[in-house]
Amino acid sequence: MTAMADLYPDVRSMHIDFADIEKHDPDLANYTLNRPSLSIRSAEEALRRMLSHALTNPTIHFRIKGLPRDSRIEVRGLREKHLGTFVSIEGLVRKATEVRPRVIMAVFDCVRCGHKTIVEQEGMSFHEPLECSKDDGGCGRASGSTKFRLQPEESRFVDTQKIEAQEPPEGMRGGAQPERLAGYIEDDLSGRISPGDRVVLNGILKSVQKGTQVKSALFDIHLDVNSIEFEEREYEEVLITPEDELRIREFAESPDYFDRIIQSISPTIYGYEQEKEALALQLFGGVTKVMDDGTRIRGDIHIALIGDPGTAKSQMLRYMALLAPRGIYTSGKASSAAGLTAAAVKDEFGEGRWTLEAGALVLADKGLACIDELDKMNDQDRSSIHESLEQGTISVAKAGITATLQSRCAVLGAANPKYGRFDENRSVAEQIDLPPALLSRFDAIFTMTDRPDSQQDRKVAAHILKAHRRGELMLHESPEEITAVDVGEIMRDSQGLVPSMERDFLRKYVAYSKRISPVMSDEAVRTLEGYYVSIRKLGEGEEASVPITARQLEALIRLSEASSRARLSQVVMAEDANRAIKIVEYYLGKVASEGGRRDIDIIATGTSRSQREQIYVLRSLVQQLSDERRGVSAEELIQKAAAENIPEDRVRALLKRLSDAGEVYSPQPGYFKLASEERIG
Ligand code: ADP
Ligand code: MG
Repeated sequence: MTAMADLYPDVRSMHIDFADIEKHDPDLANYTLNRPSLSIRSAEEALRRMLSHALTNPTIHFRIKGLPRDSRIEVRGLREKHLGTFVSIEGLVRKATEVRPRVIMAVFDCVRCGHKTIVEQEGMSFHEPLECSKDDGGCGRASGSTKFRLQPEESRFVDTQKIEAQEPPEGMRGGAQPERLAGYIEDDLSGRISPGDRVVLNGILKSVQKGTQVKSALFDIHLDVNSIEFEEREYEEVLITPEDELRIREFAESPDYFDRIIQSISPTIYGYEQEKEALALQLFGGVTKVMDDGTRIRGDIHIALIGDPGTAKSQMLRYMALLAPRGIYTSGKASSAAGLTAAAVKDEFGEGRWTLEAGALVLADKGLACIDELDKMNDQDRSSIHESLEQGTISVAKAGITATLQSRCAVLGAANPKYGRFDENRSVAEQIDLPPALLSRFDAIFTMTDRPDSQQDRKVAAHILKAHRRGELMLHESPEEITAVDVGEIMRDSQGLVPSMERDFLRKYVAYSKRISPVMSDEAVRTLEGYYVSIRKLGEGEEASVPITARQLEALIRLSEASSRARLSQVVMAEDANRAIKIVEYYLGKVASEGGRRDIDIIATGTSRSQREQIYVLRSLVQQLSDERRGVSAEELIQKAAAENIPEDRVRALLKRLSDAGEVYSPQPGYFKLASEERIG
């Protein structure tokens, strides 16, 4: 207590564990849960009195942590009976306002007689004196016949902050929207919470009447926060018992452990073996490192699925969001102001203050963000998503708010081609509305095309039909009564649709694996280095393209580490490196090759080497053939370009690109001219 007197005002709160109150006096503990306002106010009053010898009129808080499990209520479970009681809410902070002072004791001067009136302020609305009271020695005028002037210097203020917490995603049942609760934080607790934090808020549930002009019979609820507990242990949200641990270890020893993991990813989706393998590795993730100089190297594996409509992209994203610990599914065209990243907004919520609001990538911190329709994201997200993908942070600097939020999540993105369907003769970058700089941040990019092919179609159709039929039968309590089909046969035949590992077990397995930080063995290092150097060699020589860059080497390292984690192994072996190489080879072969030649620039810059050459050729053709007035016709260009082996549709596509980039323009329809002649030597 004397310590508190010495440390005041730096320390203004006394923190106490609920268990200690309970040990000391169970009745008092119980009373505190039911009538917290009174109980806490009395405790604070007692503290103030004990300190009164050393301090005059101190602001002291009595803060209680560690409420019993019964007081832990889900936001959606809050009811009238909880009003005024002490509750404990677990939540993910979505919004937080700036910290601003609120008046708690207002001193007014009566403009007629100068007498001072003190009005204690409670809650968010401001109360003025009703009269200049004669009893206090004032002039006795009512508020109608005099005015009261607030004296800020003599009044007392307290820092306040408003936050909004939402239910954590892992507690949500199948895709339900999380419910939210506003909380008020005061004095020394304010300013400690950032959007994206996972917290337990202990406080008193309050209600306020809705409507300002016309009062409503409906009331809104909020939490007067008494204490905050921060949750740090991200993967321990998934509880792993000693029996689980035994099962997990045993599973990792089984010879087909990896096939079973892959089989457990979206088994109702046919095919996509390589893609599923990569998605499995993404769950486990690589190792995030902090180097001696403070540089952070991410371990999160980012994957993009790009492809035709109806190729099960959304389906897989949703599946992964449910499977991954801290998984979130969202669309690029998110409706909230924060979008995918974060935003500072001034709206009703902040009651005049700026509010910092977290988007999906912040809410998925230390988890997996599954972002559908990534190509539809807004411009603000486009400019700030790089930072999230590479550094795991999102910075906001707007109107007085400067903040850096954590977004250390892996990203699984999906996008559709710009023109509806993939053209396999064109590069990915050309067909996707995503900047190459962003695309190249992904560790693996898969294209999913949907071409009629009777052999493949039959298999997919059989698989989908099997799934539906199994689903139909599972709705029946006693399916054996259905005689029109051979139920036993159908159920047996579709056994492959049952995930080999139940979802809960796989989640536990993944959570457990994250405790391991594997280290690369010499042979793993040699394998990766050998691969990288040999592929780079293909790029030597003047005519050659750059086949691969250091980014892919880093992707290989992350994928290898993930593979090692999947075995629960501390050491990355050659087999892990080879698994990573297989995946990278597979996707590079599809998205970063042209005419059998590896060319990473297709992803890294959006333009392959041969395209770059074609652009030069076309530009110089435009320059040579242009006449002063009209430029040159598309027909003539196509004809001349054919002699240089550039096909017609290529010429048209490149002309469009050059026009979009402002390098050529059309003096009249169908004719082209260089925008600036000097630029070509
Ligand atoms: P996208 O997001 O790629 O446009 P969806 O995920 O919406 O596609 O998929 C459309 C539907 O087709 C889904 O119900 C999905 O299950 C089904 N489907 C597509 N491809 C397959 C496949 N290979 N195996 C099983 N079902 C598939
Ligand atoms: Mg879709």
